[in-house]
Amino acid sequence: MKQLHSQCPCCGYFTLHGRGEDDICPVCWWEDDDAAEEYGQPAPERPEGPNHVHVWQARENFVAFGASEERRSRRARPPHADEMLGVLDAELASLLQQGWAVAGLASDDGYVYMALKRRKP
Ligand SMILES: [Zn+2]
Repeated sequence: MKQLHSQCPCCGYFTLHGRGEDDICPVCWWEDDDAAEEYGQPAPERPEGPNHVHVWQARENFVAFGASEERRSRRARPPHADEMLGVLDAELASLLQQGWAVAGLASDDGYVYMALKRRKP
């Protein structure tokens, strides 16, 4: 199985070759200069690095503009399927924890559809 990349602390897609190695995320264009920043976790204030905004602001920018900063939005691109896999894994794990179960899989037109059903409490 293909090794997943590391998760971008800004957009959450698995786009980085390692953490804290100044990789630039091709999806949101965040420059990953601090491995202590993790997606989904609050990040402390810190001195300005190569990014002109803090990661919490960059996350809000990604929702608003599709990039970590508005000036970078023309360079950003949508995530590839393999960059989303880790996100789907995390979402699915969360649903299974909340009492959902996989009821079946179907494949059509190159897409895989997963049916979930609520387990009885
Ligand atoms: Zn990113």
